[in-house]
Parts: sequence; structure tokens; C-alpha cells
Amino acid sequence: MSAAPRTAVTVRVPAKVNVQLAVGAARPDGFHDLATVFLAVSLHDEVTATATTGDGPTVSCEGPDSDQVPLDRTNLAARAAEVLAARAGITPAVHLHIAKNIPVAGGMAGGSADGAAALLACDALWGLGTPREELLALCAELGSDVPFSLLGGAALGTGRGELLTPVAAGVFHWVFAVAHGGLSTPAVFREFDRLTEGTDVPVPQASPELLAALASGDPDALAAVLPRSNGLQAAALSLRPELAQTLAAGVAAGALAGLVSGSGPTTAFLVRDAEAAVKVAAGLEASGTCRATRVTASPAAGATVLA
Ligand code: ATP
Repeated sequence: MSAAPRTAVTVRVPAKVNVQLAVGAARPDGFHDLATVFLAVSLHDEVTATATTGDGPTVSCEGPDSDQVPLDRTNLAARAAEVLAARAGITPAVHLHIAKNIPVAGGMAGGSADGAAALLACDALWGLGTPREELLALCAELGSDVPFSLLGGAALGTGRGELLTPVAAGVFHWVFAVAHGGLSTPAVFREFDRLTEGTDVPVPQASPELLAALASGDPDALAAVLPRSNGLQAAALSLRPELAQTLAAGVAAGALAGLVSGSGPTTAFLVRDAEAAVKVAAGLEASGTCRATRVTASPAAGATVLA
């Protein structure tokens, strides 16, 4: 049964880190098969959908990186509104305001998060009551990382990353180092192809060791597998060699392990507890090897309508 339409709906949506990212060889369609373990972290964007009398979605954005966010219909939040409205046979008369805290082009699925948030917000705004499985299918149309932004928690992603199976995860604490500038995800995959050309790229598979460590909630067990778990890390470091200094600075400041987040250039540091997180964040900022830091915990809930 559909809920009654509202005049404005706000959805909170988390960023992600890939605690494993196994990348296969390029497929004939140019995409890569992945086996990736997504973890949602407590670093959020909020998207507010407000009814308008217009004939298409409009977008505004506030936050430290908002000048880098497109405000036209290429914004994933606008595309989400259009896709949902087309399915329902209605006009996407909506304004989407994004309160942005997730780094832009940072490998933390910020645009994907806004797409999932806008889909959920518009569904509630228009009182559509779209079934969860259909919302997930629409998310997959919008992009490989969008379904996980809706789901949250921890999940194994296969295919392009859009086929999700929830997995068990204990509580972990993280510090993220935001880099100067962004990295284009397609450019990082192209660099991966260049670096692996002529080699036998194995079929990507989830690591049983990593899944066990994640479920255990033991930070030392997870730290032991993290430094070699991102198959895109070499490509990101090849394009941005200075990230090696950020990784070293985080470990020197007391992190248990560091890795590049997704396609980068944000780096993620696993720390023992909330107290250690504050210390590692201060050490990273003092090192001058990053633009800013964010202290977070995982797992975080997926996209959620706020009361
Ligand atoms: P991923 O981790 O999924 O590869 P990312 O976090 O590295 O993505 P995004 O923040 O999603 O990167 O931004 C990638 C590009 O997407 C941006 O440079 C921007 O042009 C475009 N974009 C479209 N919609 C948004 C949005 N709502 N927020 C940020 N960027 C957006």
C-alpha cells in the first residue's frame, strides 16, 4: 500500500569503503568483473526532495566540495528522480537539495549515495511505495555502486559490484584522509588495464580470510589482510604517487592499517577504537599529506528517510 504523499522528504545516506576490491580483466563491454566487500561508514550526505510545479528535477548543493558537484541533469540525484518518475509515468516535479559531506570523486561513492538517497526521497515524496527489489533494480540502472548505498551495512558485491549479498560485520573504527583533488574512476580502471596488460588477471573472488575478519569484529585480524585487499590500489598510486606518503603517515600516526578507498584518492585507515581515531586524524593532519580527515565507524545503515 502506498503512503500518503508529503511536501518534502529528507534521506540520509552513507559513504562506503571497499575493504576488499578484487578486479578481473576487462570484459568485452569494457566493464570489469569484481568481487568486492562494501562497508558503509558513518559519513553521510543528506538529500531533501521538495515538490515543485516544474517539469523536471532541479538540484542545489551545499558543503565543502559543493562547487565540484554538477547541478544539471547529469547529477545522479536528478537522474534518479527521472528514472523513478518515468517508471511511475509521472512528471519529476521535484527540487533536490544535497547537503554534501562525502568527498567528491574520492572513491567513497558520493554521487552513488546521492542517487540512492534521491530515489528513496522521491519515492516517499510521491507516495509510490515502490517495492524494495524494484528500487534496488533502479539503483543498478543508475550505477554499479548505487544499490549498496541503498542497502548499507556490509555486503559482497559481484558482477560490476551491483549484485549484492549482505555479509556479517562487527564494529570497526576508521579515519579517512581526504586528498587534494579527485580521481576519475574510469581513469583508474584504464590504468589498471595498462598495468596488467599481458599478465594473467585471475578471476576475482571474495577472500574467506577477510570475510572472517570482518565478521569477528577483531581489528587486528582485519588489519592483517587490508593492505593487500584493494586491486585498484597500484593503479591509484601510479596516477597519484604522493598517496604512498599519506598511507605511511597514517600508519606512523598509529593506524593498524591503511588502504586506498575504492578508486581513490581518499585513503582509509583502520584504527583500534574511537580514541585512537582522534589521534590518528590529528597525526594525518599534522603530516601535511592530506586536505582533511574524517573520523567514522562502521557498519552504517543504508539510505534512510528521516522523520
Ligand atoms: P565511486 O566511489 O562510486 O567510484 P567517487 O566517490 O569516486 O565514485 P563521485 O563523488 O561519485 O566519485 O563523483 C564522480 C563524478 O560524478 C563527479 O566528478 C561528478 O562529476 C559526478 N557526479 C554526479 N552526481 C554527483 C553527485 N551527486 N555528487 C558528486 N558527484 C556527482
